[in-house]
Amino acid sequence: MQPVYDVVVVGAGPAGATVAYFLAAGGKRVALLEKATFPRDKRCGDAWCEPALDILEEMGVIQELDSEGLVQWVRAGGLVSPSGLSFTSPDEGERESAPRVAAIRRMVCDERIARAAHHVGAELIERASVTDVTLSDDLWTVRCKDGRRFLGRCLIAADGAKSKIARALGVVTTGANSVASRQYIKGGTHNFTSDGVLLYPPYVLPGYVALFRHSNDDIDLGCYLLPGGRVPPTQLKSLLSAEVAKDPYVREVLGDHAEPLERPGLSPLRLGGEPRTHGERFILLGDAAGQTDPLTGEGIHTAMIAAKIAARVLHEAFDEGDLSARRLSAYHRAWMKEFGRDFPISAAAGRAINRFPILLDTAAVAAQRHGASFMDNFGAAMTGVKPKSLFLSPRMAVPLGAALLGLIRSRGATAYRAGPRAEPAHGYSFAHNALRSDARP
Ligand SMILES: Cc1cc2nc3c(=O)[nH]c(=O)nc-3n(C[C@H](O)[C@H](O)[C@H](O)COP(=O)(O)OP(=O)(O)OC[C@H]3O[C@@H](n4cnc5c(N)ncnc54)[C@H](O)[C@@H]3O)c2cc1C
Repeated sequence: MQPVYDVVVVGAGPAGATVAYFLAAGGKRVALLEKATFPRDKRCGDAWCEPALDILEEMGVIQELDSEGLVQWVRAGGLVSPSGLSFTSPDEGERESAPRVAAIRRMVCDERIARAAHHVGAELIERASVTDVTLSDDLWTVRCKDGRRFLGRCLIAADGAKSKIARALGVVTTGANSVASRQYIKGGTHNFTSDGVLLYPPYVLPGYVALFRHSNDDIDLGCYLLPGGRVPPTQLKSLLSAEVAKDPYVREVLGDHAEPLERPGLSPLRLGGEPRTHGERFILLGDAAGQTDPLTGEGIHTAMIAAKIAARVLHEAFDEGDLSARRLSAYHRAWMKEFGRDFPISAAAGRAINRFPILLDTAAVAAQRHGASFMDNFGAAMTGVKPKSLFLSPRMAVPLGAALLGLIRSRGATAYRAGPRAEPAHGYSFAHNALRSDARP
């Protein structure tokens, strides 16, 4: 007799493994199907934001990784604005108000989450590439490429941005809407001394280039194209060689002897949230549900938050014996309330930044003036610890407004409107203080 699982989860990334953990920990019989074999890589900036770190802590994963020296806490870092204004904070140790961010390799952390799920009772089945799912008599049959079949009362599609399963279910009808790249640079061969810097050169707005340093000093160099910009996803590859490789900041921090550990690789992003993420006895989760922020391209923490919500809703639905689409709509509403309502604000902010790059110059000036207290709030809103509406609150809006007025007065507003072509009128060169901790002016 084939076992019947309460839940079959397709995909053991942060979304699938986290939901498997919380379902199994609550006593559900769970099959966690993964097409790869761990340890498996996943192209990423490797930046884990505070909500994800909190969940990793709940699972005991972060403590384990930290004790093994595999976590690089992001303490010294900042941003470089479109006209090259920069703020990079010094490493002042842990500050209470600063949102926690850490660089951890996906190759390592994804496996630990999946093993944690296995440890609390989920059955982790690797090399299980799902090709087909069908629902009949309230039971899902999940078929794999190699002929194996799994039966489940409920199905979770957590199979990433391409979301083959979500598309097979007919809920997701479009392809991924953007793209990002990653290239690892060997530790000890570069000049990058910060933990994490976001670089907003005009050629990639409203996207950005990110550098995160790992605990062994390797750098993760990423480039994110975000909706609302002028560079279509198909042009990221040429942008990397034509602009990113020649970018003055990137050249300076990499230096002449930087050794790439790989060629830049591209992977899709599905941003902004799918309008429907549930149905009769199924749920879409993580990138498969488009739960990635359109302003940052970050989706690990949102995937994990949604995974916890999905587990809670499913436990309740099982208790009530009701796995109908109507009952599972509680999941869609809950993640929308938790972070999804922020996505339209993020998308609008991206469009505004593209049109008025001065907004990011303003953020850099405000950070230079107000230091860590401003940066902590900026970071909290960007990393999902606080809603994006924080930018409209007096403690953000007042310093930003003052910085904007100062910039307009000193340079003239029109110079900061992006022109019809990619290059804004004021050009781009970075201030050299981006390389070291900025002294406040
Ligand atoms: C270049 C790049 C950089 C990024 N940087 C960051 C960052 O720094 N911080 C951040 O928060 N987010 C970042 N993101 C977004 C982040 O990677 C995703 O939001 C996150 O991985 C979503 O997790 P997930 O579990 O939904 O999907 P995934 O991590 O993609 O996991 C999906 C899993 O499903 C498996 N799978 C797929 N199809 C099948 C199948 N048919 N059968 C069985 N298994 C299957 C895959 O092998 C994979 O293990 C980045 C994305 C890209 C592309």
